[in-house]
Amino acid sequence: MDWIRGHAIGRGSSATVSVATSRCSGDIFAVKSVELSQSEFLQREQKILSSLSCPGIVSYLGYDITRENNKLMYNLQMEYVPGGTLTDAIHRHGGRLNESAIVRYTRQTLEGLEYLHSSGIVHCDIKGRNILIGESGAKIADLGCAKWVHPVAGGSGKVVAAPIGGTPVFMAPEVARGEEQGFPVDIWALGCTVIEMATGGLPWSNVTDPVSILYRIAFSGELPEFPDFLSDQAKDFLSKCLRRDPKERWTAKELLKHPFLAEFSSHPKQSQDFDSNSPTSILDQRLWSSTEESKFQIDLDHTSSVNSPAQRIRALSCSGVPSWTRDEDWITIRDNSGEETNADSGNKRGDLEVKL
Ligand code: ATP
Repeated sequence: MDWIRGHAIGRGSSATVSVATSRCSGDIFAVKSVELSQSEFLQREQKILSSLSCPGIVSYLGYDITRENNKLMYNLQMEYVPGGTLTDAIHRHGGRLNESAIVRYTRQTLEGLEYLHSSGIVHCDIKGRNILIGESGAKIADLGCAKWVHPVAGGSGKVVAAPIGGTPVFMAPEVARGEEQGFPVDIWALGCTVIEMATGGLPWSNVTDPVSILYRIAFSGELPEFPDFLSDQAKDFLSKCLRRDPKERWTAKELLKHPFLAEFSSHPKQSQDFDSNSPTSILDQRLWSSTEESKFQIDLDHTSSVNSPAQRIRALSCSGVPSWTRDEDWITIRDNSGEETNADSGNKRGDLEVKL
């Protein structure tokens, strides 16, 4: 597929996400790109995402490898979800969501999780910033930390000898202890995300550095504080997610039947203003081998006031659809059967040398 890269709409710890348009159909999609030499995680994400099909999970469209500015880039193509992240939604609603919005997004996220878990996959990095808001509601994104799990007796699923990833304040106790990452870790992180929706803040109060928070999560016996103002049903739902013993945590299937979610009914359209402020992932080595506080602090307090996805999308967005009129911001990309020229770099035919 020939396509044209547009503006960047998001930058995570591992990749840049841009809007893109198909040269043939004019369809708009999102493309997550990283240099081929550093694309191990993105290739793993491609393998997992390409095996999935569920309205609650961002849809896979394809992948290719391109040459841009003399660099080989690995590109994962996905549906474009115009409403920003759940964290953006929390900010544009004044810093916290009301309970009916929490119910709606929690149910939709759980439906995606239930599908993932029944497919034998654990996401490992559920948080507001990895849930996107489309016209039909919440969609789980960023499967960069996701893993296939091995079934174990009791059906909880367990990753054996696999690297650990995720975002410290959303980590379940067993993950913080470096023990296992089975399906229940997503349920714990969902509980943390409910707290994020209710308060606009992180699930553990007084977070100073990630090493001490990891110790607290791993060994203190504490739970994150449940917001006082939530209804009893919401608190009960949280108590089923946030159980320190993973075996006692409810499954996604069980939680979908919890009375807290019963009032869910509609899929209201989302407004299109954006903002962003949420912690980012720390993958394996950086989490477990670094004790440098500032490194963790940068990751935990990941904000970009000037180049935030929110501001880039706001600049792009007019009723949710990017403006495609600024030619200078586009780069033509083509696969090895294409005939186009790279408009920005002046590369000629044959630039794309590799396609897996
Ligand atoms: P992390 O640091 O959490 O590991 P990452 O490098 O894996 O991030 P993503 O979380 O997948 O990258 O994407 C970064 C940002 O790009 C998201 O927060 C979101 O703002 C935007 N984004 C990602 N995918 C899409 C999409 N399909 N449609 C619209 N925006 C998207």
